[in-house]
Amino acid sequence: MEPKLVTEIIHSPTDRDLRRAAALLCAGGLVAFPTETVYGLGASALDATAAAKIYKAKGRPSDNPLILHLANPSQAALYAEVSFCFEKLASLFMPGPLTVILPKKPLIPDTVTGGLQTVAIRVPVHPMAHQLLTYVAGPVAAPSANRSGRPSCTNASHVIEDMNGRIDMILDGGDCDFGLESTILLPVDDHTVKLLRPGAITVEMLEQNGFSVVLDKAVTQKLGENEQPLAPGMKYRHYAPKAEVILLDGSRERVVTYMEQRADAGTALLLTDEMKSEVLGQKPDVTVLSLGKEGDRLTQAHRLFTLLRTLDEHPEIRRVYAALPATDNIGLALYNRLVKASGYTVLRL
Ligand code: AMP
Ligand code: MG
Repeated sequence: MEPKLVTEIIHSPTDRDLRRAAALLCAGGLVAFPTETVYGLGASALDATAAAKIYKAKGRPSDNPLILHLANPSQAALYAEVSFCFEKLASLFMPGPLTVILPKKPLIPDTVTGGLQTVAIRVPVHPMAHQLLTYVAGPVAAPSANRSGRPSCTNASHVIEDMNGRIDMILDGGDCDFGLESTILLPVDDHTVKLLRPGAITVEMLEQNGFSVVLDKAVTQKLGENEQPLAPGMKYRHYAPKAEVILLDGSRERVVTYMEQRADAGTALLLTDEMKSEVLGQKPDVTVLSLGKEGDRLTQAHRLFTLLRTLDEHPEIRRVYAALPATDNIGLALYNRLVKASGYTVLRL
């Protein structure tokens, strides 16, 4: 059996705790910390051995690169070739839930970038993450803190579930604001970006600021056997609960009718509050998980991963039905996570 680490779990960390966490990172340790998107699992990005430990702790495939977290966008030029497009994105959306792919400088080890010549740069706005990165005073490589294949962690108890005994420290900073991972962009030219993963910085926000946005196919569609996504992580089946997830694409009336006809004791329904009251009257024995109000898609995004985790606590649930979300604004991020959770199983009604 592999040796188990003693994981120090710190609830509401003090400034002194954050300095200790930073020292641990600088010494090659692994520390999970909150950000505004999801919890990250950090290691020094200049230390190949430390970064390699992340892949082991997560069970992550070694070709799936890590995102470099910085305290300030001005540090990006130390580790990557910055461009006009990056500077513009940084001035608009950094710090914040945005990751930008840039050509890497040689001091970033291949372990961090999965052998790619590019590196992903992000500057979190969460005050605890910002303070920790300021104390480290260097780049921290941090993927999401879940075990590979599990939904990302949106609170510290998810991290404890997945990482206790596998890493050195967990900083509990409460619930993450957005609850979905960052938007990932690849600059194409000064005013054009390719969207590799949708998140809280939306296509509409980018377009309103003069960018043209090209959607990478992997955002909405299953890739063929020989196709490679631009963000290597998009090819893995993420966010999948053990139960089969089936997405229903049709008018609200058809979706509700279908759920009423098909749902039984082995079924869970992932619904908005409004749909819940319509279906529930007929189906008292069905597990109903509420995403929130219909118009409140930020709350829906915030709850999605917690609900997907909850499903795994109910082995009797074999099948989950959810309505296919609309793809405007933050809806595209919800859509992307749900189609991946379903393995692209969409039923047209
Ligand atoms: P996670 O931190 O778990 O959300 O995963 C990071 C995501 O960023 C994965 O989908 C990676 O494939 C993607 N990523 C990281 N570095 C790069 C890069 N250099 N080029 C393209 N995608 C990247
Ligand atoms: Mg992840």
